[in-house]
Amino acid sequence: MNNLAERDRAVIWHPFTQMQTAPAPISIVRGEGSVLYGADGREYLDMISSWWVNLHGHAHPHIARRVSEQLQTLEHVIFADFTHEPAVELAERLLAILPNNQSKVFYSDNGSTAVEVALKMAFQYWHNLGKPRRKVVAFDNAYHGDTFGAMAVGGRSAFTAPFVPFLFDVDYLPVPIAGQEDAVLHQAEALFTNEVAAFIAEPLVQGAGGMVMYEPEVLDKLFQLAHRHGSLVIADEVMTGFGRTGRLFASDYLQEKPDLMCLSKGLTGGTMALGVTTCTKAIYDAFLSDSKFKTLFHGHSFTANPLACTAALASMDLLLLDETQANIQRISQQHADFANQLAAYSTVETIRQRGTLLAFDLKATGEQTSYFNNIRDTAYNFLLARDILMRPLGNVLYLIPPYCTTNEQLAYVYKQIIELLKTI
Ligand SMILES: *Cc1c(COP(=O)(O)O)cnc(C)c1O
Repeated sequence: MNNLAERDRAVIWHPFTQMQTAPAPISIVRGEGSVLYGADGREYLDMISSWWVNLHGHAHPHIARRVSEQLQTLEHVIFADFTHEPAVELAERLLAILPNNQSKVFYSDNGSTAVEVALKMAFQYWHNLGKPRRKVVAFDNAYHGDTFGAMAVGGRSAFTAPFVPFLFDVDYLPVPIAGQEDAVLHQAEALFTNEVAAFIAEPLVQGAGGMVMYEPEVLDKLFQLAHRHGSLVIADEVMTGFGRTGRLFASDYLQEKPDLMCLSKGLTGGTMALGVTTCTKAIYDAFLSDSKFKTLFHGHSFTANPLACTAALASMDLLLLDETQANIQRISQQHADFANQLAAYSTVETIRQRGTLLAFDLKATGEQTSYFNNIRDTAYNFLLARDILMRPLGNVLYLIPPYCTTNEQLAYVYKQIIELLKTI
């Protein structure tokens, strides 16, 4: 254990980590492209984009330059009664690429707060109209963040167990995976009523729930059903946004448009924490009044931080380059070819892909459940020993690489995954 790891253990509590049994954390001193450089001289391929946030590689010079210029100009200013160029420009440029019914941008700090804001907008929309609605429909197994409102609309699991008594009730729909579409639509007919304030979904891919994927056609039908009852539709694109699914947003695969959208993760290219909630004009208008009681009373100290907005602008410059769009298609194609190769392995199940996201399940080889549970650690350690950072979700192995990842790097990772499959 190096010195930094010891100092870390003395003072730090890590996220999603059982501190008693966790191995010493790996010290990273530098990043460049898809590579993280360890204090011990090792180089790790970051195949999960550091928790799905990094789009263009680590320490990208364009983002670094723009943020450092901004840092010397204006680091922060209160965002109530004041404004600044990066916040306005980012809102203008986001609205230009989002579904064209999105009309206003509300800033917060991360994906969870983006979801909290969307929920508060939805509930208060109905409150302000004088027609309060209380029900929320969400998918089983959903993940929308770790704050209380975001947890409430997520699926119930071991992660939420201690908090269940404190979470508001939600009506759940099963995820409409292939083959389940009609059954889910049938259930939805009964669930969607005029009492439903909002339907929230991770469009096309449930991230933390295990990279569960489903088709746009069925989501369109669910959105239509919700809209038929006047319910608001929230698209949580915190993970799927900014090219991950092969298009700029997963909502771009849909005919029916969401009323509210949540963005974060890739928003700043993985440089700074920033959350965005966007909404339609109809929602915004429901808060306009001579009465202060109709105000959206929500804000954070660092709302629309100029550095974070600048990082997002710089990331968007890069994202919209032809070269980046070509890289997204290139990685998608590499994944598709690898998916074909994977199909030959009997230990692999439910191979699924949407753009730069590739996932599959590792099947226990007919043995006991405990072995099954251990697959996650086995796979994680096997790949880490080969300098690949992947973080299986249980028995789900997935890749979500930065867009600058080269074919050579991908080929190396694919090869090591095949080696892993041969050992389990
Ligand atoms: C990660 C994630 C969140 C929460 O974002 P944080 O920035 O971690 O709070 C919300 N929704 C989805 C779909 C996510 O993947």
